[in-house]
Amino acid sequence: MTRRLLGVFAHPDDESFGPAGTLAVHSAAGVDVHIATMTDGAAGAPAAGFPEGDELAVVRRSELRAAARHLGATLHHFAHRDSGFTGDLRNQDPRAFINVDPVHVTDQLVALIRDVRPDVVVTHDEQGGYHHPDHIRCHQVVRAAFDAASDPTRFVDRGTPFAPSRLYSETTSNRWVKVATRLMRLVGRDPTRFGVNGDVDLTRVGMDPARITTRIDVRRGWPAKQAAAACHVSQRGDVGPITRVPAWLLARMLPSELFIREVPAPWPGLRERSLFV
Ligand SMILES: [Zn+2]
Repeated sequence: MTRRLLGVFAHPDDESFGPAGTLAVHSAAGVDVHIATMTDGAAGAPAAGFPEGDELAVVRRSELRAAARHLGATLHHFAHRDSGFTGDLRNQDPRAFINVDPVHVTDQLVALIRDVRPDVVVTHDEQGGYHHPDHIRCHQVVRAAFDAASDPTRFVDRGTPFAPSRLYSETTSNRWVKVATRLMRLVGRDPTRFGVNGDVDLTRVGMDPARITTRIDVRRGWPAKQAAAACHVSQRGDVGPITRVPAWLLARMLPSELFIREVPAPWPGLRERSLFV
C-alpha cells in the first residue's frame, strides 16, 4: 500500500529551507508526498528587482510550484496573507494569517487530511523555528486538525474521518546555534539581529537536543533540496551556502534533518531514524 506524507508549512519557501531533504528522500523512495502551504508570502522582503505585495505573491506561487516539483511533491496552497515578524505593522491586517480564525484554518486542514489520508504529518515546531508568528500558528492549527480529523463528531461535513498515525515537528538543535552565536560575537557580529532582515534572534533558535526524537538521513536528498531552494529567487534562495556549497559537502556536514515526535507521545530517551511505523 502507498505510504503518504503531508508536510504543512507557513510560507512558500519553508518546505525548501526546512525539511526538504526529508520530503525528497521519501518521494524518491515511492512515498506519496504532499506539501500544504498556508500563506501567499506577500509580506516577505523581496530581493532586488522583485515586486512587493500581491505581485510578489504571484511570483512566490510559481517559485513554490517549481520547488514542489523538485521535491516530487503534490502542492496544496491555501494562500492566506502572511504575517510579518513580531511587531510588524502589517500584523494589524485582518487578513494576516495570525488574525484568521484558527477554527476556519483547522477546518481547511481537517478537510485536507481527510482527503489526502496521510500516514505521517510534519509541521513547524512549537516555537516556530525562529519564533515567526505564522510558523507558531501553523504548528497550533496542524495539531488541532490532526486531532480533529479522526473525530466523527467534528467538522462532520468535511469528509470521512481519518486518523494519521504520526505527527512530527521539524526542528533544529540549539547545540550548533550556541556555537554559531559564540563565533559571531567573537567576530563582532550581533547574533540577535541575524538574517537578511535582521529580524532573527539566533540566541533563541533551536531546541534542547534532549527533546529531539528523530533523525532522518537526508544525504541523498541534498541535490533536490538545493534545486528546490534555488527556485525561491525572490527570497534570495539562489545565493548562500544552501545552493553555493556542493551537495556532497552539505551531505557530509548536515547528513540529517531533525524532528520531535509529537504523536504518539515519545517516551524519555526515544531515538528513532524513521518517520513511518
Ligand atoms: Zn516561514
